[in-house]
Amino acid sequence: TPRIPYIGRFAPSPTGPLHIGSLVAAMASYLDAKVHHGQWLVRIEDVDVGRNVAGADEHILASLQRCGMHWDGEVTWQTQRYALYRQAVAQLGELAYPCACSRKEIASPIYPGTCRNGLAPGKQGRALRLKVPQTPHCVLSFEDRWFGHYQQDITADVGDYVILRADGYWAYQLAVVVDDGAQGITDIVRGADLLDSTPRQLYLQQALGLPQPSYLHVPVVVNEAGDKLSKQTGAQAFDRGGDPQRLLRDAMLPAARFLGLDVHADSIDAFWRKAIPAWAQLLQTLPRSA
Ligand code: GLU
Repeated sequence: TPRIPYIGRFAPSPTGPLHIGSLVAAMASYLDAKVHHGQWLVRIEDVDVGRNVAGADEHILASLQRCGMHWDGEVTWQTQRYALYRQAVAQLGELAYPCACSRKEIASPIYPGTCRNGLAPGKQGRALRLKVPQTPHCVLSFEDRWFGHYQQDITADVGDYVILRADGYWAYQLAVVVDDGAQGITDIVRGADLLDSTPRQLYLQQALGLPQPSYLHVPVVVNEAGDKLSKQTGAQAFDRGGDPQRLLRDAMLPAARFLGLDVHADSIDAFWRKAIPAWAQLLQTLPRSA
């Protein structure tokens, strides 16, 4: 259940302009903040520096504004927050350890623990990993406001996971938890592609002594092949500036319909006036089973 005061956020990665899929996540998080009379922050998640596209952050921010989604406070960029991530690693102490393994050496989706008890002689640490308890297994669960109960055994399914990558960049899992904590985020609304990241984030929150936010994951928009829409799967940018009517018709109304909101409006202002109570009503129908 959402907390008072409510602080929500939209946290796009600047890998390209907004497409319908990312608009759905933005819209859901914005609506949930408005229904709860909360704040809505925007954080640009640009830690995966190699994937950033120049100007995509500004394009995303301009699109949010054109859609009438105005954020509270200052926009933050994760690449300006490395000091916080370093502090978190210091706080993790012995739970964080250097790992020298290459991808090829690991050869399994679950880290076998090779460097857990120290680097082999002559090996150089490349990444930092977080120790996940082995006995008993670390099983974490939460109640998702949309999907209901979700549970994962991160010992069996993930193993010790990377918090600082071998290429020197901070891992998403660490940055997102540290920032949500530092920004006092109480409610996370985002795409269901991140459901299975949530237990790793809960574990990090516990390790860092951070409060657990509440979660609502919205279904993700997929293309005809069933892949999540992204620039890689050919998602179209919908906003080339200009005509608000087109923005409404081609992007906002379809995004609302995807979320299950039955909204009819002929202006962006009218859209939000109707979408906010429609979201409040939709919340009455949750959780749904997956
Ligand atoms: N930056 C992530 C993405 O664009 C979202 C992270 C989050 O909402 O926790 O997929």
